Amino acid sequence: MSNKARANQQVDLSIADHNIPIAFSGEIMLTGWGENHRVGRTATFRLPEDEPEHPFRGMAVSAGKSVGQRFMAVLVMLNDDETPNDEVAEKLYGKHVRELHAKGWFFDRRVLQAMGTPDEFREWASRQSCVVCKSPAPSNVLRGPGYTAISVCNLHRHSDVAALATHQPKLIKVWVSHLICRIAGTDGLSEIPPAYFKVICEQKGIRDTIPASYFDAGSTEGSDQG
Ligand SMILES: [Zn+2]
Repeated sequence: MSNKARANQQVDLSIADHNIPIAFSGEIMLTGWGENHRVGRTATFRLPEDEPEHPFRGMAVSAGKSVGQRFMAVLVMLNDDETPNDEVAEKLYGKHVRELHAKGWFFDRRVLQAMGTPDEFREWASRQSCVVCKSPAPSNVLRGPGYTAISVCNLHRHSDVAALATHQPKLIKVWVSHLICRIAGTDGLSEIPPAYFKVICEQKGIRDTIPASYFDAGSTEGSDQG
């Protein structure tokens, strides 16, 4: 069994740096998953057949009252080009974040006020790229009342006001997301587990603003029953 351990060269497994004995390493494919009262949650993977013998042959399996061999597993989702897929988190919580978008949560006055004052928003906006052409460090921030500051480069500062206003919602969303993610220590809202998101909003005093549906249907994470 022991010489079955093999580092997968295509994915850099950081645990391999820590002298943890690896019982199995290799690319596997999900062929099914299930959930029922008898065995609980299960997942089935197809293993590579490049070894003469099944890597798990002879190991104890869970049956009746006997306990199966236990493993610690870390799975990295692969793209078609064999690189690690870093959008797993998006798939995990993306639908919750879509709920926030659908309910207009980012524009809730209570949410905006919990994030900062209009002046703080304006200061932040002054460090963003032009909303029209994305050129960095615009020298102008156009400002109306409340949270309506908008960052524009010299070329676009005289654009039609109504046209510029169409970019406003995006800038507000980026600002709110940026502040929440800074607290959570994540790169995106969709990487924040909903329960933790609730804690952050509680601390900000805006728990009541979260759509109730944000916490519904959190258990199956959008998978289709196979
Ligand atoms: Zn521009």
